[in-house]
Amino acid sequence: MVKSFIKPNIVISRCIEFDKCRYNAQIISSDFVKKLKPHFNFIAVCPEVEIGLGIPRSAVRVVLNNKKKQLIQPETNKNFTEEMNEFCIDFLNHIENIDGFILKSRSPSCGIKDVRIYPKSEKTAPIYRESGFLGEHVLKFFTNSSIEDEARLRNPAIREHFLRKIYTMSSFRKVIKSSDINELIKFHSENKFLLLSYGQKYLKKLGQIVANNKKQSLKTILEEYEQNLYLAFNKGARCTNNINVLQHTFGYVSNNLNSDEKKMFIDSITDFRNGRISLSVPLNLIKSWVLRFDVEYLRNQTFFEPYPLELLDANAISICSLREYWQ
Ligand code: SF4
Repeated sequence: MVKSFIKPNIVISRCIEFDKCRYNAQIISSDFVKKLKPHFNFIAVCPEVEIGLGIPRSAVRVVLNNKKKQLIQPETNKNFTEEMNEFCIDFLNHIENIDGFILKSRSPSCGIKDVRIYPKSEKTAPIYRESGFLGEHVLKFFTNSSIEDEARLRNPAIREHFLRKIYTMSSFRKVIKSSDINELIKFHSENKFLLLSYGQKYLKKLGQIVANNKKQSLKTILEEYEQNLYLAFNKGARCTNNINVLQHTFGYVSNNLNSDEKKMFIDSITDFRNGRISLSVPLNLIKSWVLRFDVEYLRNQTFFEPYPLELLDANAISICSLREYWQ
């Protein structure tokens, strides 16, 4: 089960672990990004520096004017809206093969949500919160991509989904590049249980696309498959679906196990369901039995190793939380 992974290409706000480019010349620390650095190809960008603002600089804010968002620097009363929009569109038009984004939370320039929107540039309370400038353009240009901010990525359930989706989509890029139906069949087969953890609906739909009963061209098949793959990853895998896959795969090895081993597995599922242990515990139990009993069918399933083991989060116990993080 020694796996090789394609390095995902990720755009990141430059002030997160890359450069002291914030308005106050500070850097944002993120343990998760530190961990990702050897595994991702990062494209670090600071829109405010790109449009010519210095470091340090007086802060900018989003002000609503005639229902349109404006990027204003209150101290100088300068309006940077046009420069910022031009930069964002030009930048996003020139990047290719991007698997996702990690943007600075709450930033008027980079934020994807929770950015304070003010009624005027003078000191006053925000009237609501939504995306900033780059954040808004990214959400429009790359609707289906993995787009997160560093604050949300402190949540283990969000991190787990982010990594699963990013690595699956970067591996699918290889399938598209190959233009080979056999590569698509292999991809679908190896991702079967991972997709099942996101629900039956899209696994079935994707299976039908690969079966190609409508005799469509390979180009159409790949396009349709990609669209539905994005839909499958639209939200994180539910805890119950992860358990369903664990139980399903347990069926392939259970006949070879003694009663103590079976009990250990069933207890681990209960502990996972109750948020006492991470998914990796029952998952690694199955994985070890797959190796021990040489279960060919499960050996290459990405569900057991959707991303490099070094990125595994041993503390991801809240993954079974019922909260909806993807609204
Ligand atoms: S949030 Fe964006 S614009 Fe602000 S410092 Fe960071 S990278 Fe630059």
